Amino acid sequence: MNQHTQTCFETSYDKTLTIVIPVFNEQDVLPEFYRRISNVLNSISMYSEILFINDGSWDSSLNVLNQLKTNDQRVAIIDLSRNFGKEIALTAGLDYAAGDIVVVIDADLQDPPELIPDLINGIKSGYDVVYAQRHSRAGETSLKKFTAAVFYRIIQKLGRTTLPADTGDFRALSRRAVNALKEIREQHRFMKGLFSWIGFPQKSIGYERDARYAGNTKFNYWRLWNFSLEGITSHSSAPLKVATYIGFLIALAAFLYAIFVLVKTLLFGDPVKGYPSLAILILFLGGVQLIFIGMIGEYLGRTYNESKRRPLYFINKFYSSSLFNKVQAEKHS
Ligand code: UDP
Ligand code: MG
Repeated sequence: MNQHTQTCFETSYDKTLTIVIPVFNEQDVLPEFYRRISNVLNSISMYSEILFINDGSWDSSLNVLNQLKTNDQRVAIIDLSRNFGKEIALTAGLDYAAGDIVVVIDADLQDPPELIPDLINGIKSGYDVVYAQRHSRAGETSLKKFTAAVFYRIIQKLGRTTLPADTGDFRALSRRAVNALKEIREQHRFMKGLFSWIGFPQKSIGYERDARYAGNTKFNYWRLWNFSLEGITSHSSAPLKVATYIGFLIALAAFLYAIFVLVKTLLFGDPVKGYPSLAILILFLGGVQLIFIGMIGEYLGRTYNESKRRPLYFINKFYSSSLFNKVQAEKHS
């Protein structure tokens, strides 16, 4: 009819469910994760699939997953061609999810699968995104808790879309929310930001965050720092404005200082002094300029990457679930 039909989503019905789990070197956790998610799925009567995305693991995660798959028709596996990072792994999962409701959850059991029925009820009562908001972060160092808190406060202040504090990616999505997310194809993606960017009615449910069941976190501080940069630069251009303001302040200070020097010279003559202050000024300005060139570089680099329009990921092999097959068959009939 017109161009707008593409982005006009209808409210979905809610009979089928996909659980999306990004997996990167989680061989020790997967059996226990599967046991718990399986119990939860057995307790809710929905036709469901458990979609694991193997994000280039180099341990035996893929073998473990294949084993699970041979015993359970609900299991689906996307085996990515290499490690693309959690955000891209999630994207692949959302692309291939066949369910009317999609739940995103970490493999390490930090997000309790037992909360899933509550999340799903939220979707069934008309919300499009129901996210789990943690009250505590067991097993995480106070430094990590502190840095996480600071990051959320900063991004809250900078961005135009509000990002709920203390939420991971653990959440349930309606079909129209998933379809909306599938239209966003940017390379530099910060899923948490995108989840709230799409809008639609959203709601939170509180829970206690557990410690990792086994294995180690895949995010060291360097990776978290880069992740924060991604979050900030892909959701706000405010840092670029900071450059303007600081530049303005420094120029003003320099101007006042120049007047001071002028007056001083007129009144008291000019005994040759002031090399130290000169050196300080030059170094200071040089430093400030480098900082802001770097800041512009961050954005420029991202623009460059987006402009290449590469596909977001490649799939080595896709092992479908019975739900996926059924949905495909219905589409083609
Ligand atoms: N993960 C991934 N690709 C990566 C890093 C992590 O798919 O490059 C997955 C990981 O297997 C887990 C989830 O993302 O299911 C969260 O990772 P992790 O627990 O290490 O992060 P944290 O909870 O410490 O933020
Ligand atoms: Mg974790």
